[in-house]
Amino acid sequence: MRRIQHFIDGELTAGTSGRSSDVYDPATGEVQAQVDLASATEVDHVVASASKAADEWAESSLTQRTQIMFRFRELLASRTDELARVISSEHGKVVSDAAGEVARGLENVEFACGIAHHLKGEISEQVSAGIEVYSLRQPLGVVAGITPFNFPAMVPAWMFATAIACGNAFICKPSERDPSASMLIAEWLIDAGLPPGVFSVINGDKEAVDALIDHEDVAAISFVGSTPIASYVYERGTALGKRVQALGGAKNHMLVLPDADIDMAADAAVSAAYGSAGERCMAISALVAVGSVADELVEAISTRIPGVKIAAGTEPDAEMGPLITGEHCARVAGYVQRAQDDGAVAVVDGSEADLPQKGFFYGPTLLDRVTPEMECYRDEIFGPVLSVVRVETFKEAIDLINSNPFGNGTAIFTRDGGAARQFQHEVQVGMVGINVPIPVPVAYHSFGGWKSSLFGDTHMYGPEGVRFYTRAKAVTARWPDPSSSQIDLGFPRND
Ligand code: NAD
Repeated sequence: MRRIQHFIDGELTAGTSGRSSDVYDPATGEVQAQVDLASATEVDHVVASASKAADEWAESSLTQRTQIMFRFRELLASRTDELARVISSEHGKVVSDAAGEVARGLENVEFACGIAHHLKGEISEQVSAGIEVYSLRQPLGVVAGITPFNFPAMVPAWMFATAIACGNAFICKPSERDPSASMLIAEWLIDAGLPPGVFSVINGDKEAVDALIDHEDVAAISFVGSTPIASYVYERGTALGKRVQALGGAKNHMLVLPDADIDMAADAAVSAAYGSAGERCMAISALVAVGSVADELVEAISTRIPGVKIAAGTEPDAEMGPLITGEHCARVAGYVQRAQDDGAVAVVDGSEADLPQKGFFYGPTLLDRVTPEMECYRDEIFGPVLSVVRVETFKEAIDLINSNPFGNGTAIFTRDGGAARQFQHEVQVGMVGINVPIPVPVAYHSFGGWKSSLFGDTHMYGPEGVRFYTRAKAVTARWPDPSSSQIDLGFPRND
C-alpha cells in the first residue's frame, strides 16, 4: 500500500507515530494509500525545521522571493494537469473542475509575485523639524495553515503564497482525506528554488492540529474547515494570544426575483449547487424564489438535472464526481430522507439517480417547499442537495438570508439594478454575487464570510492576507547635529 509521509526540511520524512489513516479513491470506494498521522513530537520536529528556515528566509531580499514565486508560478501552470489528476483521484471532483481549482490557486501565487508592491510602507517627511516617520511590515516567523478536504490545492495556496512571500516559513496541515496535493506543491516549491524548511507539510489529525496551535514557536494560525472546528481553533489559538483567522462552513442562498431570466438562473443554480457534488464552501444550497418565479424555476432546474453527467472524475465528459467518503454519502442520504419526513417535496431524489456501481456517488437532489425550521435548511449538508424556499416578497427574502447564522456567500438573480443595489447594501454576507452564483473574489480582493463563516478579524489572501502575515512597525527618525542636543523631560511634541 502506498504511504504518504510528511515533507520536512525539503524532503519526504516518514512518520514515527505509528498512526495512519486511509486515503480513498472516492470513484471506486477503495483505499488507495495510507497517510501518516503526526504526533506532537513530530510537530516539534517540523516547527524546529521551520523556525531555523524562517530566520534566514526573513532576511532574504524581495527580489529573491519574487523570483522564486515567479518560477513556482510557471511550474504550477505547466503542471496543472498533473496536479488536477492527483486532486481528482483523492477528492473525487472531475479533472476539469480540479484544474479550475488549480487556476484559482495560481492567482494567489501571481498576487504573491507582486509582493514587493504590497510590502511598501508609508513615509511622512518632516513631521517635525528634521523628523521622518515611516512604517514597515515584517514577517511573523513560523505560521501554520490547517486546510479542508474540499480544495486541497487552492485553499493551501490562499495561505502559503502570501505567507512565504511576506518572509514567513509556512507549515501546512492538509486534510488527512486528500493530502497528496500539498505534498506535490512542497516538492515543486523546492524545484522553484525555495530553501528547505520554508514550506513544510505535516500530515495528521486533531493531535497534529492541537500541537501546532499550542506550539510556542508558531506565531499565527490560518484555518479553513467546518464551523465547529473553526470556532474551536480560533478559541484555542487566541486564548494563547495568537493571531488566528478561521474560516468556517456556509449556507449560501441564491435569491431569484420574478424579473430574472429563468434559463440563466436555472443554469446558474444547477452549476453552483451540483458542481463538485456540492462540496464547495461557496456552493449554492438554498434557492430563495420570490413570488411567481418559483414554479417555473423549479421546473427549469428539474429538467436540467438528468443531463448532468455523473461519473468518475477522470472520465473525459464527467461533470459531477463522487462524494469524499461512504460515510459522508450516507449522511447526505439521511438528510434527504429526513427532509421528506419533515414535509419537503423531493422533486428530484439523488438516491434514485442512475449512478456508477462502485464509489461514493449520490445524485443531484432538488427539494421544494423547504421551510426555515427544517433540518435540511438549517444545516450545511455539503452535498448535491438544493433546497427551494418560497417567499412572497423581496424583503422577506433578504430577512431570511440575514437571519441565517452563516454569512459566507450569496447571489441575486435579477434584471433590476435598483434591487441588486439594495441587496448588496442590505445583505449581511461577506461575498455577494449579482447574477454571479459563486462570487469567489479574485486574489487581489480578500476572501471571507461573516457571522459563523469566519472567526477572526482578517479575511484570507489579498491585501488582508498581507496584513495577517506581517506585523507593522512605525519608525520615528531624526539625524540632528549632535551639538544641538539638550535634555528635555517634557513629552515629545511635534511642533
Ligand atoms: P473539517 O472541519 O472536518 O476539517 C478541516 C481541518 O481540520 C482538517 O485539516 C482536519 O484534519 C482538521 N480537523 C478535523 N477535526 C478536527 C478536530 N476535532 N480538532 C482539530 N482539527 C480538526 O472540514 P472538512 O470536512 O475537511 O471541510 C469541509 C468544511 O470546510 C465545510 O464545512 C466547508 O464549508 C468548509 N470550508 C469553508 C471554506 C471557507 O472559505 N469558509 C472553504 C472551504 C471549506
